[in-house]
Amino acid sequence: MSRMQWVVVGGGFRGMSAAYLFSKSGKSVTVVDKGTSIGGVLSSIPWNGLFLDKGCHLFDNDSDEMTDHLFELGGNEFDPVNVVYGSWYRGRLSKGIAIPDLRFNEDTSGTILIDILRSFESLCDDSNSLEDKVLERYGRTVADYFYPMIRKIYLEEASNISSAMLEATLFNRVYFLDDSSAKILKESKLLDEKIAASSFDDPLRYYREYCNRYQFRSFYPRKNNMRGFCDSVENTLRANGVNIQSNMLVNRIERKNSRYRVFLSSGTELVCDGIYWAGSYDELENHLGVDVGISQSITGVPMVLYYFLVAPEQLSRYSYIHNFDSDFKIFRVSSPSNYKPTNGEKFCDRAYVCCEVPINSKSTLFTNPEASTDDIWTELKKMGFIRYGSYLDKVAFSVPKSYSYLRRDFSPKWQELSGVISKKTNFYAANPIHFTKLQILRDLKLLISDGRSLNYERSPNHRPNLGKEV
Ligand SMILES: Cc1cc2nc3c(=O)[nH]c(=O)nc-3n(C[C@H](O)[C@H](O)[C@H](O)COP(=O)(O)OP(=O)(O)OC[C@H]3O[C@@H](n4cnc5c(N)ncnc54)[C@H](O)[C@@H]3O)c2cc1C
Repeated sequence: MSRMQWVVVGGGFRGMSAAYLFSKSGKSVTVVDKGTSIGGVLSSIPWNGLFLDKGCHLFDNDSDEMTDHLFELGGNEFDPVNVVYGSWYRGRLSKGIAIPDLRFNEDTSGTILIDILRSFESLCDDSNSLEDKVLERYGRTVADYFYPMIRKIYLEEASNISSAMLEATLFNRVYFLDDSSAKILKESKLLDEKIAASSFDDPLRYYREYCNRYQFRSFYPRKNNMRGFCDSVENTLRANGVNIQSNMLVNRIERKNSRYRVFLSSGTELVCDGIYWAGSYDELENHLGVDVGISQSITGVPMVLYYFLVAPEQLSRYSYIHNFDSDFKIFRVSSPSNYKPTNGEKFCDRAYVCCEVPINSKSTLFTNPEASTDDIWTELKKMGFIRYGSYLDKVAFSVPKSYSYLRRDFSPKWQELSGVISKKTNFYAANPIHFTKLQILRDLKLLISDGRSLNYERSPNHRPNLGKEV
């Protein structure tokens, strides 16, 4: 009997994972990607002999299941790394945490704690905006701190963002107590879900239940930054017999004699038994012949990515800082060259710094990013990411869509669209509500074993995708 043929549209993390799992389960797979190579947001851009990641990326060992998958996909080409996180808020840098530090004084901490305890008194959770969800989860004091930060990161009011986003943001726990007190309160399962404590002294502290096989918290491609990962995945997929068609668009999809015919921009026609769609949703709607408008409810945040070439000595010990102050342009900065391998050696002689600046696409900063380079450099020094001197070289890219968020009206639209998709035989689309790599992986495993997709309830062992656990 001939093997089932599948076409995977989109070769980002979702598409690469789908292609790998389908091929592992004995199916014959073709990946179609409109980009010049697979990887999507994980592929990096060559520059000055380095590979610039498209934003701040790093792999977390937050479950054996996910790490096994990444190691299989990426051909074991990783190094464990020690990452020093920092969080900047109200002019203060806090070491070892990635979320906002709300430890201002005892009064604030006391008020937040009482608000959180009171939040358990109201048992109903019918909030459908992020604004309501944050208020319901933590109370007024925290909400008033978080709303401007949400606006800075998403360029949108929390009232217009779906409550489902809480799981994907840096706001699904609150840091407002010293670690010793927080750790005592976290003994309660209910409080543990809302209160954060730093795990800087023991990065795997909160993950032991899920992590046995690997004794490190973070890892990173051994060479060529995230591009190295994408190249390794390409090799793994080809070794599994996957046919990769990059630089290619899907012009038309037809159903005939219980099979799909996929017409590519090259003129080639692929005949297959099933399709997994991991590409853009507006094109998906075109192919399905529907106009639900789902892509208007999945908003990609416009961003300028600034990169600075520096000498490694210019870098501070921080490798990753989130900045929550509204008067700073930078939201997040990392230096992959400063992710130190656990043996203590630096990765290379030259380092680069990547800054994410979410910004309205009509602003001058977006249309002419070069003009603000020195402001960004000054911010890096103020934040303590750069210790001294000037940069050796720099480049900036305006990206119309970076990480995305779901708008408040997302759920009913997705229900409508998934209703249309579910009527099609062997046609699946990645569920946009599954942001984290683990959710994406679990969704795919379920699909391949049971032929059904996860609904969009929060899946167990969820982790935020925008940042790291403190
Ligand atoms: C700046 C940034 C930082 C992030 N940081 C983290 C993090 O720290 N931790 C974490 O877990 N997650 C993080 N994420 C999220 C995570 O990386 C993404 O969720 C994941 O990589 C997305 O994979 P994807 O396949 O859905 O999308 P993409 O990477 O966008 O890939 C989509 C691919 O589909 C192709 N495509 C689209 N439409 C079509 C079409 N019609 N035909 C053919 N090809 C098509 C595109 O060319 C692209 O290659 C981050 C994301 C961003 C943007």
